Amino acid sequence: MVIVLERSIRDDDKERLRDFLTGRGFKVREIVGEEETIFGAVGSVAIDLREVELRPGVQRVIPISKPFKLASRELKQSDSVVTVGPIRIGGPRIAVIAGPCAVESEELILEAARIVRESGGVALRGGAFKPRTSPYSFQGHGEAGLRFLKSAGERYGMPVVSEIVAPAYVDMFCEYVDLMQIGARNMQNFELLKAVGATGRPVMLKRGLCATIEEWLMAAEYLLAHGTEDVILCERGIRTFETYTRNSLDISSIPVARKLTHLPILVDPSHATGLREKVPPVGLGAVAAGADGLIVEVHPTPDEALSDGPQTLFPEQFEKLMRDIEALSPVVGRELTRIPRQSREAMVSTVTPADAAPADAAPAGGRQAGAVPIAYQGARGAYSEMALLRFFHDLEFTAEPRRHFRDVFDAVLQGTARYGIVPVENSLAGSVHENYDLLLQYPDLTITGEIKLRIEHSLIGLPGSSLESITRVFSHPQALAQCDDFLRTRGWTVVPFYDTAGSVAHIAEEGRLEYAAIANARAAEVYGMQILKEGIETNPRNYTRFVVLTRDEAASVEDANLASLVFATPDKPGALFAAMQIMAAASLNLKKLESRPIPGKPWEYMFYVDLELPDTEEPFREALERLPEVVNDLRVLGIYRGV
Ligand code: PEP
Ligand code: MN
Repeated sequence: MVIVLERSIRDDDKERLRDFLTGRGFKVREIVGEEETIFGAVGSVAIDLREVELRPGVQRVIPISKPFKLASRELKQSDSVVTVGPIRIGGPRIAVIAGPCAVESEELILEAARIVRESGGVALRGGAFKPRTSPYSFQGHGEAGLRFLKSAGERYGMPVVSEIVAPAYVDMFCEYVDLMQIGARNMQNFELLKAVGATGRPVMLKRGLCATIEEWLMAAEYLLAHGTEDVILCERGIRTFETYTRNSLDISSIPVARKLTHLPILVDPSHATGLREKVPPVGLGAVAAGADGLIVEVHPTPDEALSDGPQTLFPEQFEKLMRDIEALSPVVGRELTRIPRQSREAMVSTVTPADAAPADAAPAGGRQAGAVPIAYQGARGAYSEMALLRFFHDLEFTAEPRRHFRDVFDAVLQGTARYGIVPVENSLAGSVHENYDLLLQYPDLTITGEIKLRIEHSLIGLPGSSLESITRVFSHPQALAQCDDFLRTRGWTVVPFYDTAGSVAHIAEEGRLEYAAIANARAAEVYGMQILKEGIETNPRNYTRFVVLTRDEAASVEDANLASLVFATPDKPGALFAAMQIMAAASLNLKKLESRPIPGKPWEYMFYVDLELPDTEEPFREALERLPEVVNDLRVLGIYRGV
């Protein structure tokens, strides 16, 4: 049962309630949510719910109807995020775990780790105890394999995942492995589930070859009931009559399980298909269906792999899959985790208490001590705020609204915000010139990150309003233009407003049923309004690119893949060509070139360049040294990780 506690419950009442429940044979888990704190109480004993309901500090009691209790959404409504070493699985980011089927040797796993890390995988997999169909097949290197795996993970800064096949190995796995995997064949090995659950460590539970979703969730319940709170589900295909693939990926299990449980869900397209050429399309399908990430087999030379070679990706295929996931993620409102969390942690650790001092405007929702203040332009619920929430998902931060773009730059410069986030380009409307100009005017700020957000507009009205009651629609002119097909036939009066989310705040304030606003769906939630129609933009391929600004973080090429530069050219033939030539000679791939007039110098221009950085630093450094020979006022705006 779920016991919702009164906000004002006294500590001693809470303890008495806990004692009462455990005394009656229940296992009690406290879950502190944003809105309320609950006790989840599970056990095989029957109890009259009124006995619980009447106790001091209890607001209400809800029975859990499903046979799985701790795993169920009824117990916990928000999505769980499982922390494995420095990474998180679940939430708005997509995590990709990869590596060979088996740890074949120390050298092999080191090389595989390098490949995984370079392509942006966040954790390394590798089997040391292989449950093979034939007793004559390679069985893995056992403890030595785990040792090699752990040291490869440490070398490349990745947590490691490996399959545990017997309760007797639990201590050994706790020594070497960050995420224990329960394989498909062991999904209902209940003694194993109990022993692994009792470690309290994160576990990835694969779905059994013939298991129903309910059986799978019951197996997760075993793990949770025996002590761990960190269970990740993994759909890896089930056995059907189909023979062209090794298994059949049950893609519908993703949304079905998502509704039934709060646990994160990964998908293993390698074991699901058994064929490497099928792995990328099926993996992308899983991401599109809402998976929290993938676990994929990749090997430096799959043709020589000792197990599962035919389903194992070549390094280039894995790299391409990662790029495709990165491009697909914003479509489903996600972002691929490619930035190592260490650098995000470095972001937090560089915040001094002075940095976190109150800013010039009080943030909405109050400030948490130690949280990183981050400024964005617009009202609460703005697209910029959404980009901020996505980018800084795993930091403790306060999102601080500012009225103008310049105020965001000022806040970062003055240190009242540690970071700022501003849009620089929309895929339909083009560059946000004001921010390009501001980048130039604030030489102390640098770009430290980038995020692309899919722009989906909703028509938002007051609770109780309907499409029929609307006569006036407010929004930013760009949003109005982007919804022109939808608006044209309605005959409503269209009123330009300075900001999309601000227009929702405006109609909320006016309180008139005939008013509507266009903004993102989250703005409706923020202002307690109602969505009248979602996805009203004419072109669904609408993305905005935001950059993250900071003041005193030195730009570093490590882990970066993009650089932004700005320079002026002398007024003579071939001046820009000479600059381009230096970049071409250094094999720097130009992603974007934009010119802006120089204020006060008619017909003279600054050129903004976005470059893809090569694997080695040298050519970029050389180009930076040579460019001043042919351009003026060269500035590196930032060296950062981006899509
Ligand atoms: C594996 O991941 O190596 C494995 C054996 O997977 P499954 O248990 O899904 O077959
Ligand atoms: Mn395998």
